[in-house]
Amino acid sequence: MSGFITRALHTQARVKDANGALRMPIYENAAFEFNTAEEIDDVSIGKRVGHVYTRSSNPTVENFESSVKNLTNSLGVIAFSSGMAAISTAILTLVKAGDSVITTKYLFGHTLSFFQNTLSSFGVNVKFVNILDEKEVEKACDTSVKLIFLESISNPQLQVADLKKLSALSHSHNIPLIVDTTATPFYMFDAKRFGVDIEVLSSTKFISGGGTSVGGLIIEYGSFDWKKTENLKPNYSQAGHFAFLHKARKEIFQGLGAVLSPTNAYLQTLGLETMALRIDRACENTLALAVWLQEKREIKNVNYPLLKSSPFYDISKKQFRYAGSILTVELEDKESAYRFMNRLKIIRRATNLHDNKSLIVSPYFVIYPFNSHEEKISLSITPGLMRLSVGIEDMDDLKEDIEQALGS
Ligand SMILES: *Cc1c(COP(=O)(O)O)cnc(C)c1O
Repeated sequence: MSGFITRALHTQARVKDANGALRMPIYENAAFEFNTAEEIDDVSIGKRVGHVYTRSSNPTVENFESSVKNLTNSLGVIAFSSGMAAISTAILTLVKAGDSVITTKYLFGHTLSFFQNTLSSFGVNVKFVNILDEKEVEKACDTSVKLIFLESISNPQLQVADLKKLSALSHSHNIPLIVDTTATPFYMFDAKRFGVDIEVLSSTKFISGGGTSVGGLIIEYGSFDWKKTENLKPNYSQAGHFAFLHKARKEIFQGLGAVLSPTNAYLQTLGLETMALRIDRACENTLALAVWLQEKREIKNVNYPLLKSSPFYDISKKQFRYAGSILTVELEDKESAYRFMNRLKIIRRATNLHDNKSLIVSPYFVIYPFNSHEEKISLSITPGLMRLSVGIEDMDDLKEDIEQALGS
């Protein structure tokens, strides 16, 4: 069984359902009962496999995690209540006060805020660099740096770094590479092959099956040797190769309580089954639409990494099956952009990404409301910029909707 879709459909549960249900049922309960007091001890200390309390583990959530693990051939997977919970847990597992991290400002708004405000206020030094400039990244690497973090395709600038080069650089300094692959989940991008040690993503987006529920994932590939990682010393002595997952799951995840609800795990497992089909369709729509939009004289600028005009065309071809389903279009100013968005009838005005429906939003006003105008301009986020997350609609309908909204 090697095909992605076959594996997505046929991952077996660890324990066969008592009633033979063909789909893992929703175990929507808090606690699990044991026959003897000794049994609960054994499960609590990990001597026996089982579930004690849903904040720690749950059969429906475990089934989602093992489906993802099977699809990614990874060392381990942890599911979270949101993408932000997965991102913050991955980072908090590796840093303490006085440490540094390297990242870029080309990040999803709340991730940027987590680095700029939250981490900084806990005494972590955040080095923002131009992640495309190897020399600048190299210069920032010193022994205080505990991780490098970036997005596989930055949102909303759609910037793409050469991950093989970046991981070689980060590994030469014994620094793990964490990549947010929300825009290019594992069907589209083989993170391990490109040297990514830890993949984090918002499963709210492509995986949920159509904006059904909020969730997040950490996927660890076992490629990084944690032996020399000072902050994981006690975990390494207990769990060896699994040191990162040990601390992330047993300490940070438990402490933050960022548990995915069993109902959402059920919805997201269902989403996994059709993810490849939806991604194929949405990404093909996006490329076709981007090419078509380039010809529209009313539009100042169209950005999509698989357009020949994009500086990221070659690297996107090399790294990804598709370059995601987000494109941006720029009109002259806020007034023209808002007039266009307000006239749309099929494309919805909403902030989510990778729904089955096409969604449009103004990053300047909606995603970065608390950053200064100067900072936004320096991040290429202008008042006339719109981010379009292309769905799986019929192409003619999308074109017709855009045509009528652009019209005078
Ligand atoms: C949506 C998103 C997140 C946050 O995920 P949530 O599930 O909303 O917490 C993080 N990174 C990127 C790139 C995103 O698009």
